[in-house]
Amino acid sequence: MKPVKPVVIKIGETVVNPEAMRAAMASIGVSQEAQDRFMASRGRDGQALIEFAGRICYESYEPGLNPNVTRIREDPADYYKNIMMKGDGSILEHGYTHWAILHVSRVCSHEIVRHRVGTAISQESLRYVRPPEIRFWIPDELNEEQRRAMQKAVEDSERAYRDLERGVPWDKLSMDHKKRLTSALRRILPDGLATNLIWSANHRTLRWVIEMRTDPSAEVEIRMVFNQVAEICIRDYPYLYGDFTATDLPDGTKSYRPQLRSKV
Ligand SMILES: Cc1cc2nc3c(=O)[nH]c(=O)nc-3n(C[C@H](O)[C@H](O)[C@H](O)COP(=O)(O)OP(=O)(O)OC[C@H]3O[C@@H](n4cnc5c(N)ncnc54)[C@H](O)[C@@H]3O)c2cc1C
Repeated sequence: MKPVKPVVIKIGETVVNPEAMRAAMASIGVSQEAQDRFMASRGRDGQALIEFAGRICYESYEPGLNPNVTRIREDPADYYKNIMMKGDGSILEHGYTHWAILHVSRVCSHEIVRHRVGTAISQESLRYVRPPEIRFWIPDELNEEQRRAMQKAVEDSERAYRDLERGVPWDKLSMDHKKRLTSALRRILPDGLATNLIWSANHRTLRWVIEMRTDPSAEVEIRMVFNQVAEICIRDYPYLYGDFTATDLPDGTKSYRPQLRSKV
C-alpha cells in the first residue's frame, strides 16, 4: 500500500481573446474610450468574459449606448455584487475551470460525479488500468490502532489481488481479454482505493459545489478536495468568490459559505 493524500491542481480555465472582444464591442457601437477602459482593467480570465456577457443584456458597457441606461456600475466589484444579489447566476456559466483531482478514493470520486449540471468528467478506468500499486489515504480521524488495522486490511486485499493477478498469463492475452480480467479482479480492491480524474465545471456550478461539499456535514475527504478548489478560486477570481467566508472545523478542514447567494 502506498499512502497518498488528495491533490487538486487547476489545469485550465476560460480565457478571452481581447482583440475579438474589442471587435464585438465596436460592432455594437461601444465607444473607443469605453472599450479601452474595459480592456485595460478586466484581465483575460473567465471573470472578464462573464462581465462582458452579462453587460450585453442591457448593453451597459457605457451610459447612453442603450438610451434607457443613464448610469452603469463601472467597478467590476460593484457589478458582480449586484449580479450575485439579484441571483443572475446564468452568466456565471460562461466561465469554465478545469481541474486534475488526484489521489482521491473511489468513495470521493463517486460523490463528485453526483454533481451533474455544468460539469465534465474523465476518470481513470479500472477496466483498463491494472493498478501496479494500491494508493490509499487513511483518514486522519482514526486512532493509531484503527490506522494499523485499516492498513493491514488494505494490504491483505492487495495480497489477495496480487495472488489472483499472478495466475493470469497477461502477455498472451488480447487487450479485450486483459480488460475483462482487470475489471473482474478489481472487485476485491477496497472502496478507498485512490483514483485520478479530470473535472471541469463552470463558475455557477463551482459556487454551488464548494458550498455543498465543504459543509460540516460533508465527508471529510471531499471537503479536503473542495477546500483546495475554494482556496484557488478565491485567490484567482476575487470578483466571483470574494464573498466566500471560511469557518475552521475541528478536523482541520474548512467550511466555505457565500455571503451573496446566486440562484442555482
Ligand atoms: C452532505 C451531503 C450528504 C449527501 N448524502 C447523500 C446520501 O446519503 N445519498 C445520496 O444518494 N446522495 C447524497 N448526497 C448527494 C446529493 O443528494 C446530490 O446528489 C449531490 O449533492 C448533487 O447535488 P445536486 O442535486 O444539487 O446536483 P447538481 O448536478 O450539482 O445540480 C445543481 C442544481 O441544479 C438543479 N438540478 C440539477 N439537476 C436537476 C434536475 N434533473 N431537475 C431539476 N433541477 C436540477 C438543482 O437545483 C441542483 O441543486 C449528499 C450530498 C451532500 C452534500
